[in-house]
Amino acid sequence: MALANENYLKTPEIYCFDEIEKRVNAFKVLHPNSKLIRLGVGDVTRPLPNEVVRAMQVAIDEMSLSESFRGYSPPQGYDFLIEKILKDYRSYGINIDKESVFINDGAKSDIGNIGHVLGRDNIIAISDPVYPVYENATIMSGRAGVLTEEQKWSNVVYLRCSERTDFVPELPTEKVDVIYLCNPNNPTGTVLKKAELKRWVDYAIEHQSIIIYDGAYQAYINEPDLPRSIYEIKGAKKVAVEVRSYSKTAGFTGLRCGYSVFPQELIVYTKMGEEVPLIKLWNRRNANYTNGVSYIVQRGAEAIYSRKGKTETQELVNYYLTNVSLIRNELKSLGFKVYGGINSPYVWVKTPDNQSSWKFFQQLLYENQIVGTPGIVFGISGDGYMRFSGFSSREETLIALERIRKSKY
Ligand code: PLP
Repeated sequence: MALANENYLKTPEIYCFDEIEKRVNAFKVLHPNSKLIRLGVGDVTRPLPNEVVRAMQVAIDEMSLSESFRGYSPPQGYDFLIEKILKDYRSYGINIDKESVFINDGAKSDIGNIGHVLGRDNIIAISDPVYPVYENATIMSGRAGVLTEEQKWSNVVYLRCSERTDFVPELPTEKVDVIYLCNPNNPTGTVLKKAELKRWVDYAIEHQSIIIYDGAYQAYINEPDLPRSIYEIKGAKKVAVEVRSYSKTAGFTGLRCGYSVFPQELIVYTKMGEEVPLIKLWNRRNANYTNGVSYIVQRGAEAIYSRKGKTETQELVNYYLTNVSLIRNELKSLGFKVYGGINSPYVWVKTPDNQSSWKFFQQLLYENQIVGTPGIVFGISGDGYMRFSGFSSREETLIALERIRKSKY
């Protein structure tokens, strides 16, 4: 009898965002001619930069000729892309070894897969609210314990993110082993200052913990003096894996490419207390579980770092940042309490009259034909908030704001 991994049964049958689709579909059945605007989506809408497309076209032609055909990619990714990543890090004063960079098919894969190289008994800390994949991966790997009456997992330490601290996660009062940090944060749009990030690195050094630092939105940090990478903090290479993605930076959500950095200095421990460089385990996992990302896509990613590629990519990011700042400013002027939306494509909005997230979601849907993302899908503490994003088109963003203005919330 083949047994199921029952940990998978503990996560919701439908991914949290699917509930939104269910409700939207129900609305569409009742109002088939209504013009819905999605103002909460986490997926990008602008096409790929021309340089990326051009580079991939060249790569496709290479693949059609026997002299330039490529088979399996090197397990870590091609040097031409890794070299560009290292140069980019060097441009803000960080030196990373070539061996530490692993090209992946997007941040989500590594965020889940990293659980394979970490012991089962680790206590995991997760911000609440945050990107739901951290919690789901913890549940599916059998580390979460049991679900309590407060809808929290008994072995997970939830890092409070609330208005009291402007949604900056608070350090745990107990010892934790693995900390997921998302900076800029999805959904709250919060971005950590250097001193705030240093507190986390210091905590991890003191407690022999590691930080899985999700920098998927790093390209949106545009104010000076904010850390772009956790490795700007002294000692971080000893405790942090940095995960990055081209998805929201350059429109790669459909193409799939990103990378993770596993510094040689990053140590985990056996139960006997022996030190193990995490990269050793990651190399083994990589060699056995993946054949990497296609040559064509890696050539596309490389083009992001060319002079034209950089300009086009920055234009994309600026487009979404302008959208989100329009949303932030408009909602603020209408009296909403808003967070984020400055160094992040997301703005986090308190619902009017302390409504639940789902109630406000329904109100926006039925009265304004706007789809937001209810804060509750990012964790219990997200209830009472709505996430809006700058990823729609400018035209739709402006129409949606006009509709909200007329509603006089
Ligand atoms: N990390 C965060 C915080 C995200 O919000 C997302 C996607 O929305 C991802 C990772 C996944 O990124 P990728 O498309 O590179 O898998």
